[in-house]
Amino acid sequence: MSGGYKKPAFPFYVLGFLLLFGLTLGRWICGWLCPFGWVQDLVYRIPFFKKLRTFRFERYFRWLKYAVLAVLVIGLPLLSAFKGVLVPWFCKVLCPSGTLFGGIPLVAANAALRNQIGFLFWWKVGVLSALLLLSLLVSRPFCRYLCPLGAIYGLFNRIALVHLSYENETCVDCGKCVSVCPMGIDPKKQFDSAECIRCGRCARACPTDALTVRFGLRKRAESHKKSTI
Ligand code: SF4
Ligand code: SF4
Repeated sequence: MSGGYKKPAFPFYVLGFLLLFGLTLGRWICGWLCPFGWVQDLVYRIPFFKKLRTFRFERYFRWLKYAVLAVLVIGLPLLSAFKGVLVPWFCKVLCPSGTLFGGIPLVAANAALRNQIGFLFWWKVGVLSALLLLSLLVSRPFCRYLCPLGAIYGLFNRIALVHLSYENETCVDCGKCVSVCPMGIDPKKQFDSAECIRCGRCARACPTDALTVRFGLRKRAESHKKSTI
């Protein structure tokens, strides 16, 4: 075998963790553990800007995160791995969390790094700024439209142990749950949606406890209405 080339290892442990967290928590992770989700929530709370719960054709933008997953997380890194170097394209060109919590503090603290910054750094600062500006108007735009991890965990939402339970016998159709949902969905109809981050705000707002976030196997009766996203 020739000298320097080492075939990149298949990331079994990463897939194992994704499977474990996906099956147990689903997108609860987005609602409760993601630091960039928290930053977006903070920015969205800034008043003076007209808030948009959703907008025309918004549902098509939500598909973008699956394209990001397919192209930047799977496709391009696999192509680069065949050439012997695994390039994390998503982190390299898009991840705003990496820019905010890693790139900017590192560059601020290290003069040598400051002398080396180029187009890619400013591109990522631009992506971060655009998302923070958008967060003034739309709640959690990165989670809704671009996050590939959210896309993966969302696929588990229908089977994950953490789930949102809805009982239509108790619902009085007051609409309070819809008005507080940070993901712009209708909790009554989309409680099993891949978009739900299990934040529990709808359950806390519900005056009749028709909605509850639960941990465990689902009762058959909990799934009597179909999700639409
Ligand atoms: S449906 Fe409820 S739990 Fe899910 S994101 Fe909306 S408010 Fe949070
Ligand atoms: S807040 Fe509760 S009672 Fe009101 S519409 Fe939502 S689920 Fe029904």
